[in-house]
Amino acid sequence: MIEGFETLAVHAGQEADPHTGAVVPPIYAVSTYKQDGVGGLRAGYEYSRSANPTRTALEECLAAIEGGTRGLAFASGLAAEDTLLRAVCAPGDHVIIPGDAYGGTYRLFAQVLARWGLLFDPVPLHDLDAVRAAVRPETKVIWVETPTNPLLGIADIEALASIAQQAGALLVVDNTFASPYLQQPLALGADVVVHSTTKYVGGHSDVVGGALVARDRDLGDRLAYHQNAMGAVAGPFDAWLTLRGVKTLALRMERHCDNAERVVDLLLSHPRVTEVLYPGLPNHPGHEVAAKQMRRFGGMVSFRVAGGEDEAVRVCDRTKLFTLGESLGGVESLIEHPGRMTHASVAGSALEVPSDLVRLSVGIETIGDLLADLTEALRA
Ligand SMILES: *Cc1c(COP(=O)(O)O)cnc(C)c1O
Repeated sequence: MIEGFETLAVHAGQEADPHTGAVVPPIYAVSTYKQDGVGGLRAGYEYSRSANPTRTALEECLAAIEGGTRGLAFASGLAAEDTLLRAVCAPGDHVIIPGDAYGGTYRLFAQVLARWGLLFDPVPLHDLDAVRAAVRPETKVIWVETPTNPLLGIADIEALASIAQQAGALLVVDNTFASPYLQQPLALGADVVVHSTTKYVGGHSDVVGGALVARDRDLGDRLAYHQNAMGAVAGPFDAWLTLRGVKTLALRMERHCDNAERVVDLLLSHPRVTEVLYPGLPNHPGHEVAAKQMRRFGGMVSFRVAGGEDEAVRVCDRTKLFTLGESLGGVESLIEHPGRMTHASVAGSALEVPSDLVRLSVGIETIGDLLADLTEALRA
């Protein structure tokens, strides 16, 4: 039986084309399908919002590599989140979200779903007592991110799954930062995994996409129903690009981790760096939990610069190889100042981040070049 992660990433959902032998699923740029008599569908395809063969290939592959029963591909990570939340919640229901949730997720709750009548509470998920205390009879979902953005906090998926189960709530894990190669939330008791496939899963900064993977068949069917009913599907070109990325996910993640570890070593020994945030460090508060539930510690590294905000901004302006930009998880290294960029909208709220913080998405380039670039940018 084939079950190795790398084998599944290359082959699941991707049988050679029965007619031509093409080893890669084609881009089915098509909206509708010829029927053999009324209702006589070939292979179940009817209309491409409901299903498209290129998207099916990606969806089956994602389900396989997350260890779920059903994968669904969406136009973006936020489209996947919105579909999930409106499929499993009704107005008046309550959701526990991470105290440092991804900004776009927080905005979806605060600006869109709150007006629709969904109640939510940001809670620090590393504090299990705080999570238990926040559970109400109306709590339908506990929403987890681990590691978090940009502070790289860690939450214990297995412990949160047992709290969710006792509460009769679903445990949803946004697995974007870890990727399915480094962390398998469904095996730890999560009900649904969410991805922004824009990041590590796609991995090449060339496509925006999202995904849901359900552990249980009934929930998977319910989400698939809503995917079709709400319509925020991934198009065939996007699905093809994402699937192309998935094939090398394991190789890329190993290299992201190798390079991130070397970058962490450099930053730790640098006199102008006051703190390095990386779950692989033994003094990181979530290190033990991360070591238990992650294969390695990922490619995201944050650090604080001596001299405050101006100096942190200056470092971001001075790198040449680390490209100044938002997003993460691509093969190219990126640098950003969360306080003024990705997290500018949460300034003044509970989600505010330190102004001397710099976030790196460490890419797969030659490590010596990356270290030289950072060394130069950090020079006083
Ligand atoms: C980027 C991101 C999202 C949103 O995904 P989009 O593809 O940008 O819609 C959700 N969660 C996390 C952790 C992200 O990094």
